[in-house]
Amino acid sequence: MFNLVIFGAPGSGKGTQSDKLISRYGLTHISTGEILRRNIAEGTPLGKIADSYISKGQLIPDDLVTELLADEIDRNKDSEGFIFDGFPRTIPQAVALDKILEERGESVHSVIGLEVPDEELIERLLNRGKESGRSDDNLETINNRLEVYHSSTSPLKDFYIQAGKYAPIHGSGNIEKIADDIVKAIDEREKRLKAE
Ligand code: AMP
Repeated sequence: MFNLVIFGAPGSGKGTQSDKLISRYGLTHISTGEILRRNIAEGTPLGKIADSYISKGQLIPDDLVTELLADEIDRNKDSEGFIFDGFPRTIPQAVALDKILEERGESVHSVIGLEVPDEELIERLLNRGKESGRSDDNLETINNRLEVYHSSTSPLKDFYIQAGKYAPIHGSGNIEKIADDIVKAIDEREKRLKAE
């Protein structure tokens, strides 16, 4: 299996770049945010819990979202690999992901870190909010989400640098150029792994 994590702040382009990676590498896309929004739309018990956190821009508790992720992996056992989008978002989630994959004889290949300045993220999310209808794409919730990102999620960058898996990608500008940079970073890591 070939497993990638696409990592970055809200609005950094994780969904857009995931779409490109799925078609290139034949991966199964797992977006915890999308799964949660689907549960909210369907009015499931999980959706009812998730709604109260998402609309405030807060994170869903680690145990709930980790269980959801493990279920989703097991539902796609025949996959060539996964692209994890929006998970992990905390250190405990990253530790849990390693454990879940290890138990299945797998691991994370690379972590693609989309790096975009906050001012650009806010502008992108406000623009998206005009069309997305998402309850969390409004200025107050966007500010909360960025605060949560900086306090709880960005420490994962060091976690994955230490694991030798972090590939920083300049996430502003042309979408195709960013996609090319991601493929180059994955290829380079592949070469390094083979040389080891
Ligand atoms: P996203 O679509 O990835 O931007 O996620 C939207 C919202 O869903 C986030 O702001 C969180 O409230 C929630 N969420 C998604 N993934 C996670 C996660 N891995 N851990 C906790 N909350 C999450």
